[in-house]
Amino acid sequence: MQTSAPDDHDDLREALRALCAEFPAEYHRRHGAEDSYPEEFITALTDAGWLAAMIPEEYGGSGLGLTEASIVMEEINRSGGNAGHCHGQMYNMGTLLRHGSDEQKRRYLPKIATGELRLQSMAVTEPTTGTDTTKLKTTAVKKGDRYVVNGQKVWISRIQHSDLMILLARTTPLSEVKRKSEGLSIFLVELDQAIGKGMDVKPIPNMVGHETNELFFDDLELPSETLIGEEGKGFRYILDGLNAERTLIAAECIGDGYWFIDKATAYAKEREVFGRPIGQNQGVQFPLARAYAGVEAANLMRFEACRRFDAMQHCGAQANMAKMLAAEASWEAANACLQTFGGFGFAEEYDVERKFRETRLYQVAPISTNLILSYIAEHILGMPRSF
Ligand SMILES: Cc1cc2nc3c(=O)[nH]c(=O)nc-3n(C[C@H](O)[C@H](O)[C@H](O)COP(=O)(O)OP(=O)(O)OC[C@H]3O[C@@H](n4cnc5c(N)ncnc54)[C@H](O)[C@@H]3O)c2cc1C
Repeated sequence: MQTSAPDDHDDLREALRALCAEFPAEYHRRHGAEDSYPEEFITALTDAGWLAAMIPEEYGGSGLGLTEASIVMEEINRSGGNAGHCHGQMYNMGTLLRHGSDEQKRRYLPKIATGELRLQSMAVTEPTTGTDTTKLKTTAVKKGDRYVVNGQKVWISRIQHSDLMILLARTTPLSEVKRKSEGLSIFLVELDQAIGKGMDVKPIPNMVGHETNELFFDDLELPSETLIGEEGKGFRYILDGLNAERTLIAAECIGDGYWFIDKATAYAKEREVFGRPIGQNQGVQFPLARAYAGVEAANLMRFEACRRFDAMQHCGAQANMAKMLAAEASWEAANACLQTFGGFGFAEEYDVERKFRETRLYQVAPISTNLILSYIAEHILGMPRSF
């Protein structure tokens, strides 16, 4: 299929396609049906160095940019897999790289590069405050050389397949800061030092087999050196990471979008009803043609977000727009694909229903479409704050 992607990453795509081809649709279908983690696939990606793409060479990674990292994510989804099982590592890495101390980077990055450690989890969302992140209630109170954490988080993914987690908590009470975004801090939590020692984990069964959890903190003690960057600046650091997260997820949606269009067009050319291929009917062609145009347009914004991120330029607008456009485009492609398959779209063996559920997530997480629209209205169009 012709796409608007820049063509200077052919080698990267070919290498990924070769690896992904070793894990065919049946593999992902089985893990989807069992709600189990595709451990062999993630290990193969780690061993080949793809999940260390953004780690600088001095720490044992490939020193690539967000552009290349996003192609890794895109190709996983385009092959029929789900990068949601490992994308955390890519964007959490950025937070450690850009804001971690030299000591933290030396200690963790080489082990993350080899796969000895995984940094797959980030704990931001809370049950009572949701998207209103600066009101979060989890506190980290400094006591001597430690911080003591109390509170609760929800929807925290991949804890069972991660060694490290980035935690956002309030270190200065909201009533004592000038701006609500101040007084929040981030910590790098070693999970084996936390689970059962002040942090409890409760899995949340869900629609997409995404490994995600509730977390409960009861006097969890974190050594002071787990603080990333300066105390009180954590919200700004997290926002930086969120731009990478949104762009990578846009790339996953693009991968999904192409997967749906490929799958649907192949089926439409082959399935015969009324003595001719269903794809000969414009009623079948047009939704797929429209979906393709949407995915292509979103793809351009995704590469613009990557370009700006890699050039260390502001990319909040582009990352948000790429995520919104790509999530909507992949959903439109998913819908058109399901419709093209008719009844067979509902059968597990065609993978359409699984990918349909998986791609729907991205209009809600990691940020919902309304919140992106509100960001554009306020920060780009200069309209009054709505909340
Ligand atoms: C499978 C899954 C995995 C996740 N993984 C993680 C993770 O690893 N780490 C993490 O920290 N979080 C994670 N999340 C949480 C995710 O980021 C949140 O679900 C998402 O940000 C939305 O927050 P919420 O669910 O609290 O919705 P709410 O904030 O309760 O919002 C509910 C709805 O109301 C709308 N809404 C709210 N306020 C406004 C407003 N002012 N104007 C217009 N509309 C509004 C929202 O757009 C949304 O549609 C995950 C979620 C899921 C489902």
